[in-house]
Parts: sequence; structure tokens; C-alpha cells
Amino acid sequence: MTLKTVYIQTFGCQMNTADSAEMMLALSARGCISCQNAQKADVMLINTCTIREHAEHKALSLLGRLRKWKEAKFGRVIIFAGCAAERLGGEVKKKFPHVDIVCGAKSIDAFDKIIEASGLFGGAPAGAEPPAESSPIALVNIMRGCSCKCSYCIVPYVRGEASSLDFDEVLKNIQAKLDAGAKEIVLLGQTVNAYNYKGKNFAALLKEAVKLNGLDRLRYLSPHPLFITEEVAEVMATEPKIAKHLHLPVQSGSSKVLKEMKRGYSREEFLSKISLLKKGGIWVSTDIIVGYPTETEEDFKETLTLVDECNFSGAYCFKFSPRMGTPAFSLKELPVNIVEKRLDILLNKVKLNAKAAYKAQEGTIQRVLMESPHNGRTLSNFWVRTEKPYKTGDAVELTIKKAEESILLA
Ligand code: SF4
Repeated sequence: MTLKTVYIQTFGCQMNTADSAEMMLALSARGCISCQNAQKADVMLINTCTIREHAEHKALSLLGRLRKWKEAKFGRVIIFAGCAAERLGGEVKKKFPHVDIVCGAKSIDAFDKIIEASGLFGGAPAGAEPPAESSPIALVNIMRGCSCKCSYCIVPYVRGEASSLDFDEVLKNIQAKLDAGAKEIVLLGQTVNAYNYKGKNFAALLKEAVKLNGLDRLRYLSPHPLFITEEVAEVMATEPKIAKHLHLPVQSGSSKVLKEMKRGYSREEFLSKISLLKKGGIWVSTDIIVGYPTETEEDFKETLTLVDECNFSGAYCFKFSPRMGTPAFSLKELPVNIVEKRLDILLNKVKLNAKAAYKAQEGTIQRVLMESPHNGRTLSNFWVRTEKPYKTGDAVELTIKKAEESILLA
């Protein structure tokens, strides 16, 4: 049997990265191997994102260009998967007839059946085994979908309602990744800390996961402020293997805008979650949307003051992007020049805060998990560059000599 080589292009969040890895496992079990050169590949798997219009356009324009790629070699296969595939459905094959398989985000769990039904891949070769982990970090999905329905977000429509994966299966999956060589596990879900499987909540999962053999570090993405409970904050503060960092999206500093976004919390409630986390020595970074259609100058100023109050160690700032099918799509957008000006001001503020957070690490001793010979991350998620090379996957105690813009030197 000839092995098919697979090139994967993943757009979007880490959940997509994890989904791509799962799809690759299914392909590996059918005799495929992954390859890093698209020109040499037999199979092109594009895992898409639709959270912003720009991300979807990028994937579709790649798909258009792939017609020539497919014609250049007989037997090539194109798989279009993920959130844009879910949103566009049957439209994809109509517009791009060179696509062989479409697998929407809600069908990722059925990917194996979908590729089997396509008849384009053989059965599992004898003795096929999942490939060993090469990175010290492994991503593990613990939830699918989201039930929050924020006014601007398309995720619940393309990924469906939230559902938690089986508690014991999740632990088994983590153990398998650790046995394959992973040192750090990242638990993933759209509202990961809303996890609840038959009464076993997220804090219970964290407490069990830290006991697993071979685990060095545990992180999770993306939490929702609503589900940061005292219990979760307590486990994070007291379990030494859980990262002392959280990426907690706030989206706006104005209670009025947060209400219109249907985020489910006010500015004050968010700030109280931050103080709960900070009491436990946890650094927080965030996501912020600039130029939500109803955002006034006053609202924007509240976002700026919130950034200062929270002292975020980093923030991803995005311009509002209207997505068809969401409640915010029908709102009149703010003029582009206003949104761009606000984004510039915010980016400068965020940069200053991040700089101060990095500076605060100077002179401290940090346990750094190496992700390549000269680069690793501290337990609080600060990037470190080392003079001396270390083995990837090793955890080393290092003194931070100097902080540069977004990197610590050791
Ligand atoms: S919590 Fe809100 S922003 Fe996050 S995925 Fe769900 S609907 Fe979208």
C-alpha cells in the first residue's frame, strides 16, 4: 500500500490545532503520513476559522489557488474542514468543485467515518500506531461548542451547543499524550471552565489531571469569566503544576457594552474575578474588541482604565468584525477611522502594561519548560530565551537576567 502524504494548513484558534491533530490521527490510521511541504503532499487538509471575515477569506482564497495544485498530480485529495466549512456547507463544493471532502466543525468527531465513506482512503494498515508526540505540549479537547451566544460571535452557530466530553475519557486521553512524551497539557474548550460531565465540574477535572504520571504543567484555554469560581481560583493557586497564568477574554471595559455584547458579566464582576486570581499569584492576559457598533468614547475610555486596573501581561486586540447570522450584524458599524484610532491607542497601552509585566520578572528565578533549545515559557507564561541550549521538553530553573519587549533573557 502506498502511503499518502498529508499537508495540513490550520487557521484560527488552538481548538482548531487540536482538531487538526485529531484528524491527522484518523488519517495516520489509514496509512497517511504528515509532511511539511505542500508541493510534495498528496492530501491537503485545510482546517478553517470563521470568527472574523478576514480569516474565512484567507481560507477560501487558498482553496481557489489549490485547483492548480490538485491538477498538477493525479490522485491528489483536498479536505476542507472546520468552522468555515460548517458555515458554508454545500456551497463549498458548488463554488470549488475540486474539493473532495467537506467536514464542518460539528462533524469533526465523525471525521474517520467521513473519510471512510469518501472511498479515497484505505483501511488501517496492520500495526498502525499513532505517531509519538514531538512537541512537549499536547492539546486536549474537553468540550465542544458553546452555549453563550455573545451578540457578535458566530462560534455557537458553527460549533453548536456546549457539550462536555466524558470525564474518564478525557483523563485517559491526557495520559496517552503524556505517555507519548508530552510534558505540558493544554485543556481546550470554547468555554473550557464551564466543563461539567455528569456533575463532575472543571475544578474536579483539574484536581484529577494534576495527579497523572508524567505531567509537568497544566494550562487551559479559553476560559469565560462567568465560570471563574472561587473553587477554580483556589485549585489554580494551590496546585503547583497548574500554570499561574490565565488568558481571560474581557472584550470591553464598559458594563454597558458588555451587556449589549451579552457577555453575562459587568466590569465590576470581571474586576472581582481578576482580584480573586491575582490573590493566588496568577497573571492574566486578555482579548479586547475595539469599535463594537455601540461603543462610545466614554465606553472606550472605560476599556483603557480597565486595562490599567488589571495590569494584563498581554492582550490581543481586535477590530469588531461583523459576522452574518449574529445579532450584532445588523448594527450600524462605527466609522473605520474612529475604530483604527481607538485600536492604536489601546495597542500602545497594552504594550506598556505588558512591558511592565515582563520587567517585573527581572532577577527572579523561574522554572522554564523548554519548547526548543533556546526558548521556553515560565509557569506564568512569559517567554524566555536562553543563552545556553537545553533539551526540548526539559524543565530548568533559570535566573531571569533581563526583560526585553516581549521576552525574558536568561
Ligand atoms: S463565549 Fe461568547 S465569544 Fe466565546 S465562543 Fe462562546 S459565544 Fe463566542
